[in-house]
Amino acid sequence: MTVEANADTPKDIENALKFGAQGVGLCRTEHMFMDPDRLPWVQKMIIAGTAEARKEALDKLLPMQYADFYAMFKALGDLPLTVRLLDPPLHEFLPSKVELIEKVATKKALGQDCSEDAKMLEIVEGLSESNPMMGLRGCRLGLTYPEINEMQVRAIFEACCDLAKEGHKVHPYVMIPLIGHVNELKTAEDILVRVAKDVMAEKGIEIEYKFGTMIEIPRAALTADKVAEHAEFFSFGTNDLTQMTFGYSRDDAEGKFLKNYVEQKILPANPFETLDQDGVGQLIEMAMEKGKAVNPKLLGGVCGEHGGDPDSVKFCHRIGLNYVSCSPFRVPQAKLAAAQAVVEAK
Ligand code: PEP
Ligand code: MG
Repeated sequence: MTVEANADTPKDIENALKFGAQGVGLCRTEHMFMDPDRLPWVQKMIIAGTAEARKEALDKLLPMQYADFYAMFKALGDLPLTVRLLDPPLHEFLPSKVELIEKVATKKALGQDCSEDAKMLEIVEGLSESNPMMGLRGCRLGLTYPEINEMQVRAIFEACCDLAKEGHKVHPYVMIPLIGHVNELKTAEDILVRVAKDVMAEKGIEIEYKFGTMIEIPRAALTADKVAEHAEFFSFGTNDLTQMTFGYSRDDAEGKFLKNYVEQKILPANPFETLDQDGVGQLIEMAMEKGKAVNPKLLGGVCGEHGGDPDSVKFCHRIGLNYVSCSPFRVPQAKLAAAQAVVEAK
């Protein structure tokens, strides 16, 4: 089992390599969107009323994502880089509703023009969801707005093809977040295959890549045999998988009742820190078994925060996963736990 790092920017990769990471198991691409130079274009993409307007904003974002991917793949050389397509709810990129209400009210009271803020407020209200973690996020975003996935896949493949032409090694793994039904993965795969093919034809070079999915919803784990027909690897997003399996919203549970649960020994530990092996772990083990039954070459890893927790790392080794991925700073600890797991197994 290898220990990889979660890294979102070229700077993160530096740290990851310094700490001995054997690749990047999770690149959360939304973090590339948060840069102050980029955010206005991300906002334009979100508020675009038509596919054409969205495409115009995405065209501006493409070279920025390309530059990041180019630098990251180049720095990693022979090591794999697993890129996750856009995941969070779109309102996370927009100003807060409360701030906008304040701004509009203040400007109105002062007799100033508030039309821009009022327009943004309307958009933010339109995007607001009662339960954003279970709303329009994950693969649902890229399937609702396929142009987003197209841009991201294009940026990945343009960067990889250019590097390959310059003689560098590249190992792109592209994954789709938060699928619950195999058809979501199939549809996303169609987009990816088409764009990847187009880019490779334009660049006149073929590169090898792997296509996979995150398993973060119990239904995806339960139907892993169907999902594995369209995936070369499963990356278990154990943060979401824990939320969805327990039915706890992490933000609420950790602030409100989890501490008490652990003190009362209702739970042996905070399941967001140490993997719940009986429940969430069972889903992971079962999903890998079901997946490998139809796709024996299927690779599996954990990229949630558990990937850096020693007990969880040992569990991943015991059930035969191929990698864990955690924050760069936790890589040494995860490597030690992985080594101990090997010794303990002997
Ligand atoms: C996860 O859910 O475990 C995961 C890695 O995704 P995120 O934490 O970004 O939702
Ligand atoms: Mg997740």
